[in-house]
Amino acid sequence: MTNDFLDKMAAETLDSASSRRLHARILEISEIGRTENQGSKRMGYSEDELAAKNKVAGWMKEIGMRVRTDGAGNVFGRYEGKDDSRVFMAGSHIDSVPDGGHFDGAAGVITALEIATLWHEAGYRPKYSYEVVIFSDEEGSRFGSGLTGSRAFMGMLTEEEINKYRDPDGQTIDDVLSAIGSDREQFMKAEGPDHPIEIYAEVHIEQAKQLEQKDLPVGIVSGIAGATRTNVTFRGEAGHAGSTPMTERKDALVKASEFISTLPEVAKGISQEAVATVGKMDVKPGGVNVIPGEVNLVVDARDIDEDNQARLIEAVARHAEDMVKDSPVSVEVDLTTRVLPIPVDPEVISKMEESFKRQDLLPVHLPSGAGHDAMSIGTEFPITMLFVKSIRGISHNPEEFTHIEDLSKSVQVLKDFFENY
Ligand SMILES: [Zn+2]
Repeated sequence: MTNDFLDKMAAETLDSASSRRLHARILEISEIGRTENQGSKRMGYSEDELAAKNKVAGWMKEIGMRVRTDGAGNVFGRYEGKDDSRVFMAGSHIDSVPDGGHFDGAAGVITALEIATLWHEAGYRPKYSYEVVIFSDEEGSRFGSGLTGSRAFMGMLTEEEINKYRDPDGQTIDDVLSAIGSDREQFMKAEGPDHPIEIYAEVHIEQAKQLEQKDLPVGIVSGIAGATRTNVTFRGEAGHAGSTPMTERKDALVKASEFISTLPEVAKGISQEAVATVGKMDVKPGGVNVIPGEVNLVVDARDIDEDNQARLIEAVARHAEDMVKDSPVSVEVDLTTRVLPIPVDPEVISKMEESFKRQDLLPVHLPSGAGHDAMSIGTEFPITMLFVKSIRGISHNPEEFTHIEDLSKSVQVLKDFFENY
């Protein structure tokens, strides 16, 4: 078995006209910004991202959807429903990380459009108008940010934040916006929805292995974790590695190591979904023959439940303080970032479970550890997310792969969900 995207796509089994269309469209989008190693490079606000948006907009127009673009470059295609005063919204993003795959983002846009296409073919009108959305620059590779389009859409970006934006070529947000025919004023008031959103749905590849381990094609996201960052500084005393006896040391790194090696137990003690990671650490003074006098590290801790997230933050701080009890080393703890988790309404989950059962699928729940555009919309409107099985959990990598038949199942279940909402 080869690892090349095109060979894997050629080997796919396709059981329906809908699957064949999903397959063809994923392939067509993959041509835009495809790299030498068959990965994807479609940076936010690049010509490639724009070309991919235009391609999808063309498909939207083929089935009579009305297409508009807002000041943040987000594209909306509207399929008229029986009641046009509210909207069902579904979509994702179509940008990728610099050496990404062909499913992260694109899968959510193409499946959302497939639902409208199937309705169009059947002459079906949903209860509310249905908008398929492509949010700009979700990955944030352009400015080192993230969720740029969806946050602009929800009015969550401040002038202060966007003033700091510089892309790898040193371009400002104003330079980038003028290249897409927009400006700061239109960007800041991307206006948000022109009708209240009844519910926003996003299909996304899982980017983990739970569905593969359970041998299930699709799962229901139970909540989106909010990330927190805590700076922890252990302070001891630097000294000569040769002449300071073991009994007289104030080694900050030894304490930091104890803290890190026992941190997993702290997370496990909070909830099944809680996670805590130290991925960055700075040891001072940093000499091979010097006892570490100071260690700065950052704990990234997440949970999908707000109360559990608060308990996790507290537990991390307490754990750090417990470490230095009766020790000559001291510790300082500073919470620098807290993004609140986005819950999924239990009623929405139970409606989704019914759709799974009607489509002969086992409704399994999965937490989302990563951020998605649904987080932005979820600050104000109800959301639901489906994860689709990722082969070996690989993502943000050219080897990322999801079977088309599994994507097709997500279409069936989400279509059923909207039809019965
Ligand atoms: Zn994504």
